[in-house]
Amino acid sequence: MKDLFSSYRSASDSKTEAGPDKIRAGDGSLWSLADAKTSPSPRSLRSRPWGLWRYREVLPDAPEDYVGLGEGGTPLVPLTLGRARFDAKVEYMSPTGSFKDRGAAVMLAVAASWGVDRCAVDSSGNAAAAVAAYAAFFGMRCDVFVPTANSPSKLAQPSMHGAEVHRIDGSRADVAQAAMAFVEGSDAFYASHVYCPFFYEGTKTYAYEIWEQLGGRAPDSIVLPVGNGTLVLGAAKGFRELRAAGCIDRLPRIVAVQAAACAPLASAWEEGSETVAGCDAGETAAEGIAIAAPPRGDEILRAVRETDGEIMTVSDSAVRDARAQLARRGFFVETTAAVSAAALLQRPDLCGEGRSVVVPLCGSGLKGG
Ligand SMILES: *Cc1c(COP(=O)(O)O)cnc(C)c1O
Repeated sequence: MKDLFSSYRSASDSKTEAGPDKIRAGDGSLWSLADAKTSPSPRSLRSRPWGLWRYREVLPDAPEDYVGLGEGGTPLVPLTLGRARFDAKVEYMSPTGSFKDRGAAVMLAVAASWGVDRCAVDSSGNAAAAVAAYAAFFGMRCDVFVPTANSPSKLAQPSMHGAEVHRIDGSRADVAQAAMAFVEGSDAFYASHVYCPFFYEGTKTYAYEIWEQLGGRAPDSIVLPVGNGTLVLGAAKGFRELRAAGCIDRLPRIVAVQAAACAPLASAWEEGSETVAGCDAGETAAEGIAIAAPPRGDEILRAVRETDGEIMTVSDSAVRDARAQLARRGFFVETTAAVSAAALLQRPDLCGEGRSVVVPLCGSGLKGG
């Protein structure tokens, strides 16, 4: 793990000094950023506008006069579904309709401060929309690589933002390969929600917001969908930082949920393994988390283990049922975004007596898919 937190904060020379503009570190490992050593004080928070950048002590600097698209600051609302009582964090109220805006806003703010004017990303949908929107905001050219098999409705959004959409036949891994080959052969920045460590600096604000919304406490557990782990790893980092800063005294348990048809992390977890072998890419309606070989798989296992958490699976029919139940309560989410609710319908014991549980509603049903 590279300690970049101090070096990237001195923005002027960070591109050459820190180097996470390269896809991998020199030794082939993935970039990670050290945890922040400071925290925002409750007093300074009181006077700041609600939204992602109120946690500026623990974030890279936003460009001067940055306004943004209104990222962060999503509502937390109590919800009872079947026998499960929890708080739903309504992430689909983000600017492009998913929590990926948290990561894209921070990652592209950093890239803009480096003078990047062209970026590329591969995604099954929501990350492409988020990166395309923030690339448009910062005036960057953007190339997005998506699987041909994905919901066509998800391609409209990045192309409306002006991105060039490349549809790639093959697996999700083939799509990533195509994007990386494109980056190697051009001057584009790889704005990857998986590889770029700054993305997780954005998604960690998910934890900071929950902490504030619960009145300065951590919940007992957070139930999160997991494919590549952009929310799991970000949330884990945020709560770790809050604990290190003395804002909370224990980490919430992370219950990470995979689709049964594509569950390499759940398999590794069941076997008690510390590494993820990868699996065959099974078909699932939860296309947003169908990742057969997550590049940060081992990191995800460690993050869940550190919280005394667990990794479980849900079937497609359970996810569809949860999505329908959410919709009947007024919450319109895309199929993948019903994964955590499906897990709680299956395991209401996770919300037992007096326990506080937070579940993200990750993506909007208006996108289709
Ligand atoms: C990105 C995403 C996820 C999960 O993210 P991973 O980084 O693959 O773990 C879950 N739901 C939705 C709707 C998403 O867009």
